[in-house]
Amino acid sequence: MASSAFDFDWLVIGSGFGGSVSALRLAEKGYRVAVIERGRRYRDEDLPKSTWQFGKYFWAPALGLKGIMRMRLFRHVFTPSQIAVGGGSVVYGGVLYRAKPEFFDDAQWRSLGRWDQLLKPHYDTAEHMLGVKTVPFESVNQQLIRSMARHFGTEDTFTRAPTGVYFGEPGKSVKDPYFEGEGPDRTGCTRCGACLVGCRVGAVNSLVKNYLWFAEKRGVQVLAEREVVDVTPLGAPDGSQGYRVTTQRPGAWFARDRRTFSARRGFCRRHTRHERTAGQLQARWLATADQ
Ligand SMILES: Cc1cc2nc3c(=O)[nH]c(=O)nc-3n(C[C@H](O)[C@H](O)[C@H](O)COP(=O)(O)OP(=O)(O)OC[C@H]3O[C@@H](n4cnc5c(N)ncnc54)[C@H](O)[C@@H]3O)c2cc1C
Ligand code: SF4
Repeated sequence: MASSAFDFDWLVIGSGFGGSVSALRLAEKGYRVAVIERGRRYRDEDLPKSTWQFGKYFWAPALGLKGIMRMRLFRHVFTPSQIAVGGGSVVYGGVLYRAKPEFFDDAQWRSLGRWDQLLKPHYDTAEHMLGVKTVPFESVNQQLIRSMARHFGTEDTFTRAPTGVYFGEPGKSVKDPYFEGEGPDRTGCTRCGACLVGCRVGAVNSLVKNYLWFAEKRGVQVLAEREVVDVTPLGAPDGSQGYRVTTQRPGAWFARDRRTFSARRGFCRRHTRHERTAGQLQARWLATADQ
């Protein structure tokens, strides 16, 4: 089937770190790309003021809660993950470390290549895009951690964290300081400490301020509040003739507003409800990613 017969060349499921980077880079190569995201699009000022704003904080669409944090309960633990346009970048610590040398030296993969060197240019790019900078001050918490390290004789291992946060004049908004004015305005971190509820100040360099911002400028369509519930190969079962992706409104009991999209290729994690099917398709989708 010709590329123009599809709604998109590529469909990306999820607008978190993996999805946003893929969307921008595919758009730069000239593909028609859409990103399907089940969460809402939040402006900084619309993020919750506290976790008590259940409707904005918790994600439980069957109960009418379409906030930014999803808690999955297991027998002994729960796992949180974020749901919004921008995925995990909308509510996170913004701490962005590079893996340490010991990680790259692991016996599982060291025979495959010099990953520290191979990944270095990509770390550089990602850090530039996400505006990573070492925290320029020592907070009370950090002072406590430092004194604890001193107590245990390991103070030399103490470092301030690299973070994707704008540390200009606190509370002052400026024209985009990262991409020669091409990106959105930023406001200096006020040290309010609300990063894990969402930065309403506009200091966190979330994906909507960099990768997704530029992806949309290049024509990528972000289809928010649409949950992918099925992915089916069109024609040949190996996906070589494209895919049909079915979406619906998250949490809808009746008016599900089902819509389908077709694409030549796709990128996803294990997102659809039918995990097993999604896992198989993921392998196929990713296997075709370089073609
Ligand atoms: C509270 C918290 C704080 C964190 N702080 C840090 C930190 O400081 N530094 C750090 O490096 N990491 C941090 N992490 C981890 C980091 O957020 C994740 O590793 C990262 O977001 C994973 O990126 P991803 O692209 O794989 O997925 P995500 O960023 O989770 O994006 C996946 C997106 O896909 C969407 N989606 C899922 N299923 C579907 C579907 N069926 N249809 C449509 N859309 C779908 C989701 O809504 C979500 O937006 C933190 C995590 C949490 C929970
Ligand atoms: S302004 Fe507050 S929420 Fe935003 S990055 Fe700084 S401490 Fe975190």
